[in-house]
Amino acid sequence: MTGSIAQRFGPRLAERRAQALYRQRPIVSSPQGVTMVVNGQPYINFCANDYLGLASHAAIKQVLAADSTAGWGSGAAHLVTGHHEYHHQLELALAEWLGVERALLFSTGYMANLAVQQTLLQAGDLIVGDKLNHASLIDGALASAAAFKRYPHLDYQALARRLERAEGQSMIVTDSVFSMDGDLADIVALAKLAHEHQAWLLVDDAHAMGVLGEQGRGSFSYFGLTPAADHVLMGTFGKAFGTSGAFVAGSEVLIESLIQFARPFIYTTAMSPLNALATLKALELVMEGDDLRAQLNANIAQLRSGLSALGLDLTASQSAIQPVLCASSEQALAWSEQLKHQGFWVAAIRPPTVAQARLRITLSAEHHPEQIARLIEAFADITKQ
Ligand SMILES: *Cc1c(COP(=O)(O)O)cnc(C)c1O
Repeated sequence: MTGSIAQRFGPRLAERRAQALYRQRPIVSSPQGVTMVVNGQPYINFCANDYLGLASHAAIKQVLAADSTAGWGSGAAHLVTGHHEYHHQLELALAEWLGVERALLFSTGYMANLAVQQTLLQAGDLIVGDKLNHASLIDGALASAAAFKRYPHLDYQALARRLERAEGQSMIVTDSVFSMDGDLADIVALAKLAHEHQAWLLVDDAHAMGVLGEQGRGSFSYFGLTPAADHVLMGTFGKAFGTSGAFVAGSEVLIESLIQFARPFIYTTAMSPLNALATLKALELVMEGDDLRAQLNANIAQLRSGLSALGLDLTASQSAIQPVLCASSEQALAWSEQLKHQGFWVAAIRPPTVAQARLRITLSAEHHPEQIARLIEAFADITKQ
């Protein structure tokens, strides 16, 4: 059918509005931090992914201000002249930190997830992913030539059955910390299944990197593992590192294959070299960040105990992502609005992003216990109404 864009999308936009699912972009006019100015009003921010408070860290600003080796733009793709020595140093530092042979930078995590699945898998192969995987993992699977099957969230028996039936090469794909529920995949169980079925394993550590494991090395370290030859570890800088971009870490042959064949790596401009420099500094702060991680964990414990005492519906999450499940999208929006009136910015996450509407609270090491206590009080007011 032919027609105008307005004819196609007018009814869809109207339907979204009617279902309380219409999305809007709040405008931020302050640095990212626990206190922020959003839509012209000051708020205590409880929905950023800046888990260690590095996004506006003074030490990173200082390093950037003092630099004279890089400009803002990279000017080209990595394979042309965009690969600055700061990018290279960051890749070497990441590989050493994680105990793997190599690491490779990507401009975004979304592109890294696309690249790995599109490049490594071919027709006749099978990608098996957790039902609650991040949208970028799902899109990456759909963009590859492999067949794509999903298993119920954390149901590794169902996963094993799918692997048993696979004929070609298969790859297990999972978030470690799930982005909308905050719970954790069992990397030991997954590595064992992968081994038994000669499957490859892709772990998306966006919400674990910097937060879990020794020195914040992420989920493998948390479970006492280092990535093996057929493991692909993906991490992002947009969360705990407080910058932006992403990387894939693993074997020499994995990384060289991505450099030669991964279209989302080859055909795009390299991230700003100053972003790579900022991320190098962020990596140092992450490595030295045991105090930050201890504070974050204390904040998580405080929030969970306060909210569960109010009888709110929490998930099994022990991570910085602490969703409060809601009865409907309308309730999630109403609660989010009421919290805004009290000075707290907490995002309502609704279908189709999640099956059940929720307030997705995220915590940072930067939150003061007093701010968390005030958020719990605000919830107490809301649930009384
Ligand atoms: C944020 C996120 C991504 C995407 O990373 P970007 O760098 O923001 O594109 C991928 N996977 C998960 C689980 C995420 O939370």
